Amino acid sequence: MVNTISVPNTQTFVDKNQTSLFASVSQRLEKALKYVAISEDAIARLRYPKASLSVSIPVRMDDGSLRVFSGYRVRYDDTRGPGKGGVRYHPKVSLDEVQSLAFWMTFKCALLDLPFGGAKGGVTVNPKELSKSELERLSRGYIDAIADFIGVDVDILAPDVYTNSTIMGWMMDEYSTIKRHLCRGVVTGKPLTIGGSQGRDTATATGAFHVMQTFLPKFDRVPEETTVAIQGFGNAGATLAELLAKAGYKIVAVSDSQGGIYAPQGLDIPSVREHKNSRRQIKAVYCQDSVCSIVEHQTITNQELLALDVDVLIPAALENQITAANAADVKAKFIFEVANGPVTTEADRILQAKGVRVFPDILVNAGGVTVSYFEWVQNRNGWYWTLEEVNQRLQTKMETEAKKTWAIAQDLQIDIRTAAYIHGLNRLGEALDAKGTKDYFSIRE
Ligand code: NAD
Repeated sequence: MVNTISVPNTQTFVDKNQTSLFASVSQRLEKALKYVAISEDAIARLRYPKASLSVSIPVRMDDGSLRVFSGYRVRYDDTRGPGKGGVRYHPKVSLDEVQSLAFWMTFKCALLDLPFGGAKGGVTVNPKELSKSELERLSRGYIDAIADFIGVDVDILAPDVYTNSTIMGWMMDEYSTIKRHLCRGVVTGKPLTIGGSQGRDTATATGAFHVMQTFLPKFDRVPEETTVAIQGFGNAGATLAELLAKAGYKIVAVSDSQGGIYAPQGLDIPSVREHKNSRRQIKAVYCQDSVCSIVEHQTITNQELLALDVDVLIPAALENQITAANAADVKAKFIFEVANGPVTTEADRILQAKGVRVFPDILVNAGGVTVSYFEWVQNRNGWYWTLEEVNQRLQTKMETEAKKTWAIAQDLQIDIRTAAYIHGLNRLGEALDAKGTKDYFSIRE
């Protein structure tokens, strides 16, 4: 394996002068370290991403011109197994963001006890401006650029914001073409016909649903008396909205990048979704067969959605949505982080002081990577599971780790985010120690 460009990392989580996202997110690790007994060597290793690759991707556009895009892949840690993490297409993608996302993936995989490390990738692009064939050339170009850095046993890709199963199919095909043999397991979240798993498209939302169903009853919450607002109506947010509505929760507000809608009487989520899929627009509609009519609703901004007087707030779009600037406005009693990093470290402190319970991304949205793991296992075995088998295994995994995290929080009387980091950190520490640390060598001597 060749690490084509290895950029030495200059950011550690102890450097409080850094204003980067990575410096901010890694403070969470520092907090958890107070409660764990892992070796100094293991801690030192976890301060740095293992390898970061920056690439430029030249793409021939439909009009014959050439555009060059910036792309990244970061493998944060691979002690517990190959790197694992999605690929994001967004105009704001940067190395700092990708490092942060790879950091979260490391703890998420350890928390869920998946035999993976953490990785992430991204391309700085607004995919909405590209035609389908330009998007395909970009996706194949990205794989050409990072091919030596990834692999079935090295680092495995998956969908994230503005990437989907079609793009994953192109990426797997391109990688297989480069390697001159079929490499299904290098990418998860693929279309079913080329080795995707049943249930992968709904896995993040299904996992989040099980986490909510595990925790909310502990606070005597029943679905019928629980109002919910969801920011982000994409793969994760819209699917979760549908699952929650089906279970009896009242979804009163949803939004996408254009803004949101609010209807205190509750939204008919399948109809809203149908309208969004056909018109690329969010409206409070009610559809019967193919006939849809717009029902009364209020148009709100994303900021207004975050401040709604609801029981549960679900950020399911991007990071840094609830910050020191708007955390005081949050009226929800519970926040379930479906997006990665939607609540900043400063906002966490404000929310905690207000008594808002925040359930962290590395647990809540881990259903996606869990079924990605199932897909990888199925690809390697060539033996495919039914949707029922996938969903049953997912439910068991989510509930088991959610309950263990809760027990740590209760035992230490700490917030659930720190408990989640402790749970992941213990497993990472054990794995790092098992590979040999100073203590190990001292004992030998
Ligand atoms: P997606 O591309 O399917 O949907 C993203 C949604 O967010 C879209 O509705 C978009 O309009 C909306 N959005 C974008 N910018 C916004 C803004 N500024 N304000 C409000 N809404 C905005 O992406 P997704 O796969 O649903 O991912 C959403 C979040 O969940 C991301 O943080 C992602 O990292 C996280 N996540 C996704 C998965 C997965 O399997 N898809 C797994 C784990 C975590």
